[in-house]
Amino acid sequence: METILVLTHADESGAALSKASLETVTAGKELAARLSAPLTIGIVAKDAAVAAKSLASTGARLIAVSGEAFAHARYASDAAAVEALCRAAKATIVLAPGSSRFTRVAAGVAHRLGGFIDTHITALGGKESVEATRWFYRQRIEAVISRTTRPWFLLLDAGTHAAFAGESQPVQIEQVAVNLPALRTTVSGFRAPEVGKQTIRPDAKMLFVAGAGWTKKQLDGQVHVTEAGELILGFLRATGASLGSSKSLVDQGGEGNSVLPFLTHLNQIGQTGSTPRHQKGLSTCCHGEEPHVVGWRFIGDRRAISLDPNCGWTRGKADVVYIADAFPVMAKVNALLAAKKA
Ligand SMILES: Cc1cc2nc3c(=O)[nH]c(=O)nc-3n(C[C@H](O)[C@H](O)[C@H](O)COP(=O)(O)OP(=O)(O)OC[C@H]3O[C@@H](n4cnc5c(N)ncnc54)[C@H](O)[C@@H]3O)c2cc1C
Repeated sequence: METILVLTHADESGAALSKASLETVTAGKELAARLSAPLTIGIVAKDAAVAAKSLASTGARLIAVSGEAFAHARYASDAAAVEALCRAAKATIVLAPGSSRFTRVAAGVAHRLGGFIDTHITALGGKESVEATRWFYRQRIEAVISRTTRPWFLLLDAGTHAAFAGESQPVQIEQVAVNLPALRTTVSGFRAPEVGKQTIRPDAKMLFVAGAGWTKKQLDGQVHVTEAGELILGFLRATGASLGSSKSLVDQGGEGNSVLPFLTHLNQIGQTGSTPRHQKGLSTCCHGEEPHVVGWRFIGDRRAISLDPNCGWTRGKADVVYIADAFPVMAKVNALLAAKKA
């Protein structure tokens, strides 16, 4: 029989588990129920008792590694913590969120334990055995993997499961001792983009994509990049949407053209960009070509605004296409959002 361990870690506040961790808890609960296998949840946090409160109703065995050394991500301490949790749980299947914190250490720990690791898992199936699903070739081919090697580490992509939500109450957790190696890295602080300047928001309900059309000559023969920037940022402020871009638009920076200064290649969606998961997506001034649209694989409701009635979006790639000038449309949308807020 399998023994399932779900690994979790605290979010930046330190007082709660990260959303991706809670999504992994849901996956672990479902898998344990299907296989009738025991479930253990391991927590890495400065104060695990606080972070664990939301897990009270899981019914799982809770084990934790706590202390100042585990307040921040660091390879040596996190790898030691995860290894200790895996050994304490005698886990055969280890589920972990594909967060930067665990992605960094999971392969190393799998090697230490003589196990195997697969990453970017999007679904777990199988009634008798574990079957893990992931995508290859930029989300074009879906594969189902099963392995006999144990422990088998599976890193889950964020947004593939609902975050576990249970009533928050004090819980009993078993503290696991860790033999820390010599720590050569000192965490001196945490640097993040200024709040409001970060335009990539994986947890947002909506993705807003800007295409190269925003910087092209418009009907009056002029470019209106400043106005385009204001419209886009105004929409992001009003909705909290995440900002994506077509390749053509972000590439313009390298070609010395006038560009939207808040866009970088990190915003790029598509074959050579990212494949985010959001409930809804609105594409503006973008042609909807295949190498871009493949990045929309996991967007639920897709809408586009384009001047071109023959663009890729109109050929079955979007649920709704507005053949319209995005400048006045977005100005109107922003005005309606402002009126709703007032
Ligand atoms: C190997 C390879 C990998 C690639 N990877 C990616 C990738 O990861 N991501 C990606 O995005 N692309 C990728 N591309 C490029 C991709 O094929 C397209 O060239 C790119 O997506 C086009 O960007 P765009 O639609 O913004 O620009 P354009 O093709 O220039 O289209 C601009 C659109 O804006 C519309 N428009 C202009 N003004 C307005 C207005 N006022 N209102 C409404 N609409 C307006 C125009 O009608 C036009 O349809 C890749 C290409 C290759 C070969």
